[in-house]
Amino acid sequence: MASLPPAVLRTAGILETAMTRSETYAVDAAARPFYVRLDEAFPALTDTQIARIRRFGSARRFADGELLFEAGKRRSGMFIVLSGQIAVTARDGLGRITPVADQGPGQFVAELGTLADDPTSLADGRAEGDVEALLIPPEKIRALMVEEADLGERIMRALVLRRVALIEFEAGGPLVIGAAASRDVVRLVDFLRRNGHPHRVLDPAVDPAAADVVARLSPVSSELPLVICPNGDILRNPNQAALAHALGLLGDRLLRSAYDVAIVGCGPAGLSTAVYAASEGLSVVVLDAHAFGGQAGASARIENCFGFPTGISGVALTARAYAQARKFGAEFAIPVEVKELDCTRKDGLFSLLLEDGRHVRTRTVVVATGARYRRPAIENLAAFEGRGVWYWASPFEAKLCAGQEVIIVGGGNSAGQAAVFLAGHAARVRMMVRGSGLAASMSSYLIQRIAANSSIDVMTATEIVALEGSPELGLERVRWRSRRDDAETTAPIANVFLFLGADPATSWLAGSGVALDPLGFVITGSGGLPVASSIPGVFAAGDVRLGSVKRVGSAIGEGAQVVAALHSFLEANTLTAPG
Ligand SMILES: Cc1cc2nc3c(=O)[nH]c(=O)nc-3n(C[C@H](O)[C@H](O)[C@H](O)COP(=O)(O)OP(=O)(O)OC[C@H]3O[C@@H](n4cnc5c(N)ncnc54)[C@H](O)[C@@H]3O)c2cc1C
Repeated sequence: MASLPPAVLRTAGILETAMTRSETYAVDAAARPFYVRLDEAFPALTDTQIARIRRFGSARRFADGELLFEAGKRRSGMFIVLSGQIAVTARDGLGRITPVADQGPGQFVAELGTLADDPTSLADGRAEGDVEALLIPPEKIRALMVEEADLGERIMRALVLRRVALIEFEAGGPLVIGAAASRDVVRLVDFLRRNGHPHRVLDPAVDPAAADVVARLSPVSSELPLVICPNGDILRNPNQAALAHALGLLGDRLLRSAYDVAIVGCGPAGLSTAVYAASEGLSVVVLDAHAFGGQAGASARIENCFGFPTGISGVALTARAYAQARKFGAEFAIPVEVKELDCTRKDGLFSLLLEDGRHVRTRTVVVATGARYRRPAIENLAAFEGRGVWYWASPFEAKLCAGQEVIIVGGGNSAGQAAVFLAGHAARVRMMVRGSGLAASMSSYLIQRIAANSSIDVMTATEIVALEGSPELGLERVRWRSRRDDAETTAPIANVFLFLGADPATSWLAGSGVALDPLGFVITGSGGLPVASSIPGVFAAGDVRLGSVKRVGSAIGEGAQVVAALHSFLEANTLTAPG
């Protein structure tokens, strides 16, 4: 993160500072794209362009010093400055002010969150001198983006870049006060980071202001970390839902009495469904228990995603899709766990029971809750995922292993196929299983092929106990133990492939009547539709679907496929379902 002293922020503002001081203050490489795109983040519209979009808003006047919107409170939409100037400042929960930008005639004042139907402001906006501005409410901003595509593109890019800037400069979000490495600080920061929300961590051990807050509020240890919201609300070690609620991320109400489609799961499959469904005019709500992005959001670099030749991080990919779905009007409720699906359709609608007791009523349901790869209990496993720990073996990973020694963990057919495949690239494949052999879990033809391949060593009664490496180089060494004599061995191995199976997230479908296979994957194919479940109107996409290819690309493709099926179902059922 770029570290700019607060004093500089106060006097110069994030943007001016970024332009003039980036040489003086160490700014990391990741921040550069924002600086070089400053014009795109704060463009000015011409009089002709403003005339084109006047129909979306209404002119308002504000006196010098008047607040147009306030951090932590609902705001009414985007302002386009017609005359005068609006000063935008971020304010943290301790009342410290960070100038963000001064916006004059032709410039627009909004950021990504303004697209939501009920947006909460991340900053204060105050009139400097008399101001006349065009106020465009959220639904009209979205209409503008669709109807005036070229202007919509400029505005959307600016909104995304502004959010990126707020995140980089940790401005406009809550203060998380606690030891940086503590489990609950990591939990809350992970939630905020995964949901693209700006925040700042203050460690009382090194930050006097944070130490002062802790001294004044004297929380017991279970009440740490403290979270101070921009509006001054103080939360003591909140869960994610309470934090989201306090920040206005989780609306008090789901906006409609009935949706065309409720999508459960906001990974690539759910996001793709949301983008296509909302762009095709359906009313959409997406519910996720954790964050947008799903498993893909945890991937440091996706190398095989269509259209990204240099690779893209899972968060960057799915954040784009999230913004795109919002642009088309999809609603999101995160974090909200869905507990039950009622398919009795007494009133013609499906009903989803949420963990907070609310119900969502919908004409169709898309199950996109994914599956979680089983992971062995190795302490720092997550740190090496995508950096030497893999859950599949494609030609890309095979290239990384060329001429090296690799480990495959697992004794099923997928592990066997991967072993045979990787043996054609790696110098040596160590195939580790905890049991006494492969026969119980693998097809005999694969067992024979493995036995015939001198590059593959089957190591029975063996388990990995430690992974070692560095953030720069990823995995470097692996330690394993023989379960026969407890002897431990460490070897310089940089690639470990885990094939331990995956558990689908479908417990919430119990009792719904949706047919599952013995492992819990959703059985699809009803009526010849590859994404239709056994219940008409309930569809499944992505990893949760029996037989799906467990990849980001296929999850995205299935999301698009579901939308065609949704249209057919909705057309056939329009007359029977109430609005
Ligand atoms: C570390 C890692 C790296 C990867 N790298 C790659 C890669 O490089 N290339 C590639 O093609 N694939 C990769 N994958 C696989 C890829 O991420 C998955 O195939 C893809 O994310 C599946 O998408 P999905 O939408 O079906 O499900 P998921 O991504 O699993 O998303 C499911 C979502 O549903 C939510 N959910 C579950 N239950 C509920 C409930 N009851 N209520 C509400 N929400 C719920 C979860 O919180 C989650 O957000 C990787 C996976 C991992 C774990």
